[in-house]
Amino acid sequence: MSLRYKFKKARKLLAALTPEEHAELTRICETVRQSQETLLANAGTAMQQCLHNCEGLCCRNARVDDIIGLWDLVYILALRPDLTADMAARVEREAPFYSADCMFLEGDTGPCIFTPSIRPEVCITTFCSGDGTIQKEIRRVKRQFFKLSWFFYWRKPRAAFRMLGRLSKNGGSGATFPGPAPSKGTRVVNHGHTRGEKHD
Ligand code: SF4
Ligand code: SF4
Repeated sequence: MSLRYKFKKARKLLAALTPEEHAELTRICETVRQSQETLLANAGTAMQQCLHNCEGLCCRNARVDDIIGLWDLVYILALRPDLTADMAARVEREAPFYSADCMFLEGDTGPCIFTPSIRPEVCITTFCSGDGTIQKEIRRVKRQFFKLSWFFYWRKPRAAFRMLGRLSKNGGSGATFPGPAPSKGTRVVNHGHTRGEKHD
C-alpha cells in the first residue's frame, strides 16, 4: 500500500463520519496527542540524543511508506485539517519502493512539518537508545493509536446496533430487519526531530 493510497483512504474515512462520530474521533485523537506530550516530556536523554547528536538521521533515506500508516494519517488529518493541502502535494512526490528523505521534512533539511505531539506512531516511539525509562509512556502512545484503529473497525457494527435499537424502540413498525453488516474488508525511525521542533 503506497503512502499516496493511504492518504486518500484516510481522507475518505474522515469524510464518511457523521458529526457525532467525528466528535468521538476527535476525543480519541486528543488522548493520543496527550500521550505523545507525556512521552516527549519524559523522553529527556533519549530526545537530547536525537536533537543534538543526530538531528533526525532516521527521517532521511527511509522507506516512508513503512514508517507512516493509515491511522497516523487519520490522526494528523483529524487534528490538523489545515495541513491537508500541503500533505496532499507532498505525498504526490512519493516514489514507492525507493528510499528517500521523508516528504514531510520542511525544505531539504527539516524540521518535520508536524508539531512534536502530532506525529506518526513510529516517529514518536522509536529511539536508538536511552528509552529504558520511558517504556510505559511508549506503550501508552501505542495503546491510544490502537484505540483509534478500533474506532474504525467497530464503526459499521456500532451503526447496525444503533439501527437495531431504534427499530426495537419503534416496536418493529413493519421495518425490514437489516442483514448482517458486510464484512470488509521498522526499521528505526525517528521522532522527527530534525527533528528540530516545529511549532505552530
Ligand atoms: S532515533 Fe533517529 S533521530 Fe534519534 S538518534 Fe536515532 S537515528 Fe537519530
Ligand atoms: S518525524 Fe516527520 S519528517 Fe521524520 S519521518 Fe516522521 S513524519 Fe517524516
